[in-house]
Amino acid sequence: MTARPIAATIASLMPRAKAELTELVAFQSVADPAQFPRSECEAAADWVADALRAEGFQDVALLDTPDGTQSVYGFLPGPAGAPTVLLYAHYDVQPPLDESAWLSPPFELTERDGRWYGRGAADCKGGFIMHLLALRALKADGGVPVSVKVIAEGSEEQGTGGLERYAQAHPELLAADTIVIGDTGNFRVGLPTVTATLRGMTMLRVTLDTLEGNLHSGQFGGAAPDALAAMIQLLASLRAEDGSTTVDGLTADTEWDGLQYPEAEFRSDAKVLDGVELIGTGTVADRIWARPAVTVIGIDCPPVVGATPSLQASARAQISLRVPPGRDAAEATELLTAHLVAHAPWGARVSVEQVGQGQPFRADTTSPAYTSMARAMEAAYPGETMQTSGMGGSIPLCNTLAALYPEAEILLIGLSEPEAQIHAVNESVSPEELERLSVTEALFLRNYADSKRA
Ligand SMILES: [Zn+2]
Repeated sequence: MTARPIAATIASLMPRAKAELTELVAFQSVADPAQFPRSECEAAADWVADALRAEGFQDVALLDTPDGTQSVYGFLPGPAGAPTVLLYAHYDVQPPLDESAWLSPPFELTERDGRWYGRGAADCKGGFIMHLLALRALKADGGVPVSVKVIAEGSEEQGTGGLERYAQAHPELLAADTIVIGDTGNFRVGLPTVTATLRGMTMLRVTLDTLEGNLHSGQFGGAAPDALAAMIQLLASLRAEDGSTTVDGLTADTEWDGLQYPEAEFRSDAKVLDGVELIGTGTVADRIWARPAVTVIGIDCPPVVGATPSLQASARAQISLRVPPGRDAAEATELLTAHLVAHAPWGARVSVEQVGQGQPFRADTTSPAYTSMARAMEAAYPGETMQTSGMGGSIPLCNTLAALYPEAEILLIGLSEPEAQIHAVNESVSPEELERLSVTEALFLRNYADSKRA
């Protein structure tokens, strides 16, 4: 299929898209009432709802989610018998952080060196504009060939889980044959990429008790068991010498078979200091997308300032374990718990408390939806083929949708390529990426409808 009429339409719609993104970025829609007035989020939600109504969406509604924010929903019926595709974006944004470090005001979309700068330009207000552009181009070229549901979340960045709980309580609402999450990004500008896996996560708190109370290190040190020393030894048991994660029973040798992440590029992206080695084994992609990774994210211990010569009676740590695709997060939780109990030294009393868990995700990249996306990307990015990358983190809503609609294919695409610097100061979007990904999405919807008719 040629991209030509769709691409020409979207090219002609780009000035309007820029004006709309300017309006949308101007809302200071940080979903944290302690930092920004709620009215900013409400105004952004109203803008999104109006935009959907203007495109002919029905049942447009501001959904009051249990975390006190609003997600915007709309439904655009397609031809009889056509499949339903859910398009996801979020209209809330990260706080601007250090405003003085922005080269232009964070809530004023500003063009500079061929990119559009502004908080949320890529993550994820641009994602909503991408959905609009794709639908407009299809309307101008014969019509939208599928039924479309749009959901624009109001608190993705806060991680308060409102939409997840709402979706669980209203399981019919977001039901679809295929789901496009417009909130990830190409591996780099110009390289069309679908994120096909997400690591899951389990979060545990471990407490060690060894004494009835703290003791003087001069009087008792050397024989009395120090809970902090026990904790240091226990946490060290979670890593091999080379830094690989070693949880008893949890394999860490899976190989990533998609796009590779060159080591030099990773070192630069991760801002690793000269002379400091990466940890783990295998390729970078193996380590961050296909294998478990443990991180000690907090330790309760006396701070250096004000430290006294004491042995600690008790110590506590919080441990995050990223769970690779193909593993069950609950099983990983059990293995990590058993490991912590088994490796606590000196008979220290161990208690382990689970404080969070999310399943990993892996898409079926041989499905009709992925085939349709691959063809769309090849047409929208001449000379390139679709790449599949993973994501080390999790998108909790993705797991919710995967659990609610196990038959639905989920594709993650979006504008957050590395240069977009999402979540940092001077976030920006590439207008070329917005244009090409909108073409991609339009062609995807058409290819997908065709595949279902065939
Ligand atoms: Zn986002």
